[in-house]
Amino acid sequence: MSGAQETHGPPQLDNGAISVILGEATARLIDIIARRAQVEELALFLVGGVVRDLLLRRPKLDLDFVLESDAIGFAEALAADFGGALQRHKPFVTATWALDASVAEKLSLPSAGLPDHIDFARARSETYAYPTALPEVAPSSIERDLWRRDFSLNTLALQLSPAQAAGTLLDVCGGLKDLEQRRIRVLHERSFVDDPTRILRALRFARRYGFEIEPETAEWIREALPMLGRITGIRLGSEFELILQEDKAADIILGLQDMGALERIHSAFRVSPELEQRLSMTLDGMPRWAEIATADLALRWSLLLADISERDAHAVCRRLDMTQALTRSVAAGAKLVADAGRLSETGSRPSEIARLLDGAPEVSLLAAWIALSHRPEARRNIDDYCGIWRHQRPSINGVDLKRMGIPPGPRYKYLLERLRSARIDGDIDTPEEEARFLQALITECN
Ligand code: ATP
Repeated sequence: MSGAQETHGPPQLDNGAISVILGEATARLIDIIARRAQVEELALFLVGGVVRDLLLRRPKLDLDFVLESDAIGFAEALAADFGGALQRHKPFVTATWALDASVAEKLSLPSAGLPDHIDFARARSETYAYPTALPEVAPSSIERDLWRRDFSLNTLALQLSPAQAAGTLLDVCGGLKDLEQRRIRVLHERSFVDDPTRILRALRFARRYGFEIEPETAEWIREALPMLGRITGIRLGSEFELILQEDKAADIILGLQDMGALERIHSAFRVSPELEQRLSMTLDGMPRWAEIATADLALRWSLLLADISERDAHAVCRRLDMTQALTRSVAAGAKLVADAGRLSETGSRPSEIARLLDGAPEVSLLAAWIALSHRPEARRNIDDYCGIWRHQRPSINGVDLKRMGIPPGPRYKYLLERLRSARIDGDIDTPEEEARFLQALITECN
């Protein structure tokens, strides 16, 4: 927001301004929805993050509409006229309307530049049966709906209907002033006790916008830190996923560590100051064998938890209720980083390095490679493994062993592994050398 807006009254968010920031297609979409509500004389508002970001002149295609009447019914009528799937969330009196290309066509709008879905909610109040419980929801006015929110900057609402009120910016919790003064402020003393995930959200918004956390809010965060231990892993995990998608992810997580939030979540949850450099890794800096995007969430999780032991990584993953597949990737990455010494040994045979790396998911190999930037030897070994060694197989397989009359059993595994190691180490090259090597092995075993 500019200083001029401070002295010349509330900023204007008319259709022209919205069009400049969100693009013409989305501005027209908002207008179509507003006009429909106006015809029915319904109270309709655009709320939350999109209004905040419009005022900050930042594009955001996450549109949240609130009605002081049946939001699900309103969304159903739109979907009936224009098509598109509708998801209803009855307990929260909300609906999500998916906008596919056919909806855009019916709306006579270009689908490029439109959001892929829109959320509609009935204005509601929330009460917490006990701290950290999921809130109980009841229909209410827009004002009470705004008061249930996390931070003042997220309580701004732009009224779109009825027609005579359209364009009014509702600022019932002092959000505009906080936006101008660049600060994150909660609405009441118990906010973090009701919902400690707001501690993570406070840091996320503060670092994203470069805002300060207002002193009283910071004090309430400190007091509520122990409550983080009572939040379910699923809820914490979702907040961390949002953080990991931020440009300033490392900054946010290191900030959470500094304030003691991570250790309240799990005593082994620790991150390295090098996280900054790791998460800012660009495509240019990636090894040639890597086919994983830098934004990949499993990669980012693995980089986040790369500096603790494999056992601790397991424990933190369990605390955050991660899926088995994600836990496996994260823990394997942590194990490889902890094995940096062995991975860097210059005298090791390639097959010994391969044994350390065998079975690790691709994302763990890449996480270890990124995290071991100060260990060029380890990096070279991971490069060779991923680029060459892991693709090397002996030409002899189990069927051949059977054909040679060797009785099936654990010996097969031993023989095939020895053959593979010999290939990787360059001891055998041609099929003849392989056959000779196998014969020697069999003699040795007998
Ligand atoms: P982002 O830019 O990260 O998407 P957002 O403000 O749009 O931020 P959402 O998580 O999409 O955030 O939530 C939409 C709105 O719902 C927020 O603006 C806020 O008003 C409210 N909200 C979300 N989470 C909470 C919470 N934990 N407590 C209270 N209000 C919340």
